[in-house]
Amino acid sequence: MSYYTSLVWFRQDLRTEDNPALQAGCQKGRVLAVYILDDEETSWSMGGASKVWLHRALQDLDKSLHGNLLCLQGKAASLIPELVRQYKIKSVFWNRCYEPWRIHRDTQLKSSLRNQGVEVESFNGSLLWEPWEVLKKDQTPYRVFTPFYRKGCLAAAAPRMPLPAPESLNLITPDKQESVEQLNLLPKINWYQPMLQHWDISEQGASRQLEHFLESGLQNYKAGRDFPAMKSVSRLSPYLHFGLISPHQVWHQSQMNGMSDQLEKQLDHFQSELGWREFSYYLLYHFPTLPEKNFQSKFDSFPWRKDDEALQKWKNGQTGYPIIDAGMRELWQTGYMHNRVRMIVASFLIKNLMIDWREGAQWFWDTLFDADLANNSASWQWVAGCGADAAPYFRIFNPVTQSKKFDPDGEYIRHFVPELSGCSARVLHAPWESSEANLIDYPQPMVDLKSSRKDALEAFRDL
Ligand SMILES: Cc1cc2nc3c(=O)[nH]c(=O)nc-3n(C[C@H](O)[C@H](O)[C@H](O)COP(=O)(O)OP(=O)(O)OC[C@H]3O[C@@H](n4cnc5c(N)ncnc54)[C@H](O)[C@@H]3O)c2cc1C
Repeated sequence: MSYYTSLVWFRQDLRTEDNPALQAGCQKGRVLAVYILDDEETSWSMGGASKVWLHRALQDLDKSLHGNLLCLQGKAASLIPELVRQYKIKSVFWNRCYEPWRIHRDTQLKSSLRNQGVEVESFNGSLLWEPWEVLKKDQTPYRVFTPFYRKGCLAAAAPRMPLPAPESLNLITPDKQESVEQLNLLPKINWYQPMLQHWDISEQGASRQLEHFLESGLQNYKAGRDFPAMKSVSRLSPYLHFGLISPHQVWHQSQMNGMSDQLEKQLDHFQSELGWREFSYYLLYHFPTLPEKNFQSKFDSFPWRKDDEALQKWKNGQTGYPIIDAGMRELWQTGYMHNRVRMIVASFLIKNLMIDWREGAQWFWDTLFDADLANNSASWQWVAGCGADAAPYFRIFNPVTQSKKFDPDGEYIRHFVPELSGCSARVLHAPWESSEANLIDYPQPMVDLKSSRKDALEAFRDL
């Protein structure tokens, strides 16, 4: 008896619910489920933290697929055609990715498989609106967020409803057991175990995280999202990046029936942050050099400083500015950093230390669980002032003012900078100003805020 067999290629959609490619495969008949680690040869191969997350997420997906996920390493462009021959595959399905190198690879693979008579279809599994569908009247891409989101996205068709998990999974057990472990994603030194305590890396964990946020974070999202000690943000970013949950699920599940006007406002704000995610992907799609090149080329002549010692202090959370050090240590300890603090540490690196934004982006790429080429590149360019719709260059966050405003009681700082846990809130934001300072084992500020700000402003003005 001959069966209709499809290959479903999992990529940044490591889930069974709302997975259009998996649905398509299951509707046709038997499915060979495959994951391929094939980023080694690109300049954006995954960072250490991402690999750890991926390891856990693949283990969870494999469990949902009853141990039938085939995990391979190598070039997808040659591995997929081999599998097609070996398993007599008639159709290949995947959900689209938007990194330039993946688009290039997928386009070539699609046409070569089709030339061999294989049905190939790709689906939208990770964006609410396709970047090529949202254009200005003159058919060029938007460069400013608000019109992109309000006039382009919200005025277009609403995001599709999420799909349920396939009713039945008729999966092929691969001939050769190539398991998640064989991808060697975990580092030899176990630095990651403490980080994992903060996360439930599974498809169900993503749903629980969303539920928890809708019950306890959403009602104060608009104001609370700026305060790192508050539990007002969703912490869904790594789940969204790896596709343990889709933006469609987040978008529709957060639209509850019978919401008060007050809650509607909070929801509108939350959804607009998902809109920023769309905007980042949109920019990367239309301007594929975003990770490497200044969006505004006038920044190409900016006199960045090369200072490895300063960069290392920033990475280690030893700058002497408590809010910066708390953020950089949150990153070390949890693989995550609160958005407000990401903006403050990025501004400090770029504008007070005058170190190239790409150095900071690279460090985030290696250490964030949610490291995402679109969001990371667009956000760093935004803070630097060289991005699309970016913060103006003269907006230089003062870490002390920001700290007093957004962590007034010092709860966030005390948690991540235990050396300062005994300090009063009066001293905590700028410990060097107090006579207690020499009693604390904490570094002196590595740079003077006033003079470094002046230097940066002069350099920016010269552009
Ligand atoms: C310098 C810098 C680097 C960043 N690097 C990344 C990165 O590599 N990966 C990443 O996912 N985000 C990045 N961000 C954006 C933002 O900080 C995170 O998405 C957010 O902190 C994730 O926390 P959350 O899930 O609790 O967000 P919530 O506030 O709960 O927002 C919900 C979702 O909306 C999206 N979102 C929220 N804020 C933004 C934003 N400003 N830009 C784009 N999408 C957003 C995320 O997918 C997020 O999960 C960066 C921001 C800065 C300033």
